[in-house]
Amino acid sequence: MPEEVFDVAIVGAGPAGSTAATVLGRKGYSIALIDRAQFPRPVACAGWVSSKVEGLLGDLGLSANGVLEQPFRDVTFYNADFTKTAKPRVETTVGYVVERSRFDNALVKAAEQHGATAFLGSGAADIRLQESSVVVTLADRRKVTGRLLMLASGRGSDLLDRVGFPRYPGTNPLWTAQVEAPLAPPTGPAEPRVTIVLGLDSGPSFGLCCLTANRAVVNVNWAGDRDRAIPMLVELCKAALREKVIPVDLTKAARTATLIRSPASAALDMDSHVAKHTLLIGDAGGFISAASNEGIYPAMWSAKLAAKAIDAALQSDVSQDQLMSFDTLWRTQMADHLRSPHTDIRFLLPLIFQNQPMADRMAAAFFYGENL
Ligand SMILES: Cc1cc2nc3c(=O)[nH]c(=O)nc-3n(C[C@H](O)[C@H](O)[C@H](O)COP(=O)(O)OP(=O)(O)OC[C@H]3O[C@@H](n4cnc5c(N)ncnc54)[C@H](O)[C@@H]3O)c2cc1C
Repeated sequence: MPEEVFDVAIVGAGPAGSTAATVLGRKGYSIALIDRAQFPRPVACAGWVSSKVEGLLGDLGLSANGVLEQPFRDVTFYNADFTKTAKPRVETTVGYVVERSRFDNALVKAAEQHGATAFLGSGAADIRLQESSVVVTLADRRKVTGRLLMLASGRGSDLLDRVGFPRYPGTNPLWTAQVEAPLAPPTGPAEPRVTIVLGLDSGPSFGLCCLTANRAVVNVNWAGDRDRAIPMLVELCKAALREKVIPVDLTKAARTATLIRSPASAALDMDSHVAKHTLLIGDAGGFISAASNEGIYPAMWSAKLAAKAIDAALQSDVSQDQLMSFDTLWRTQMADHLRSPHTDIRFLLPLIFQNQPMADRMAAAFFYGENL
C-alpha cells in the first residue's frame, strides 16, 4: 500500500484533534487528521461550552458567530432535593449551547481549510513508534507516517496503552449518563436554560439539565459508587419534570441510559503526557474539569498548548526535549482550571443558597474553572 508522510499525524478529529490540526496547519505544517468516523458524527453531549471558547476559536481563525449557536445567561442552581434555588448574577453571556455533531464538523472543516488532510471513516488500528517517525496503520490498511504523533482519540481509547499511557487515567472518575429528547417548537424557551443540581451525594456529584428551543437534556455526573449513578439519573429526571425544569418525562429512557466513565481532572494524576514522538491531548489525556465535567474547552486548550510544543519540536534538532515542554506548559496554564475547588463543597453547599456572592462564585467555578 502507498505510504504518505506528514509532519504530524493526529489520531482523533474531535475538538482536541481538529484544534491541533488547525493551529499547526495555519503554521504551514503538513497534517494528517485521522478519525474512524465519517463527519458529521453523533456525540453524546449536553453541548454547553463556556464563553472562554470564543478566544480559542479566534486563534483558529474561526468566527464565533459561525460556530457557536445559542448563547445562554439563564443559570439556576438547585439543591439535591430541589427545595432550594439560587440564581447567579450574570452580566454577560455565560456560554453557548451547541449541537455537537455540527460543532465538531465545523472544526474538522476548519482544519481541512488550513491544509490538513483528513482520513475519515477508517480508524487507527495500529501505531508503531519508530526511531525518527510514527507509523499509523488504518483499518483499511493504509499507512500514515508522521514525524510526530498527537493522540486525541478520546476517553478509554485502546490506542493509549499501545504507546505507554494508561487507558483509564485518574483514580476518581465521574460516572456520566445522559438522556435527551427533541422538542417541537414552541415547547422550549427562546434562550437556553441551564440548571445545575448540586450536592447529589452531599458532595461533588451533580446533575445538569439543559433546555433549549428544540431539545431537553438531563445528565448525571456521579462521583460515588458506579451502581448508584443510573438510579440517580432516574431520580433527577423525575424531579426535573415535577419541578418543571424540563417539559418531558425522561425517566424511562434514564433507566437504560449508558454509563460512561469520565476521566475528570485525570490529567493532574498523570506523570506525563509525552511519549516517544507523541503527545496526548483532550479526553485521552484526562483534560476534563473536575468541578463541571466540562471537556470541550479543555480539549481545545490542551490541543493549542500541545501544538505550541510540537511547533518547537519540529523546528529543533532535539525534538523530544521540546515535546517535553508540553507537560510544563499545560500544568502552569490549565491545572487550576481542571482541579476541584479547593474548598470542600459540602461546607459551601448551604451558603450557595443563602448568599448571593457565593452563588456567583459557584457559577464562576463551574463555568470558568475559577477557585471557590
Ligand atoms: C454524556 C456526556 C455529556 C457531555 N457534555 C459536555 C458538555 O455539555 N460540555 C462539555 O464541555 N463537555 C461535555 N462532555 C465532554 C466532552 O464531550 C468531551 O470532553 C470532548 O468530546 C473531548 O474532546 P476530544 O476531542 O478529546 O475527544 P472526542 O470528542 O471523544 O473525540 C475523539 C475522536 O477520536 C476518534 N477515535 C477514537 N478512536 C479512534 C481510532 N482508533 N482511530 C481513529 N479515530 C478514533 C473518535 O471517533 C472521536 O471522533 C460530555 C461527555 C459526555 C460523555
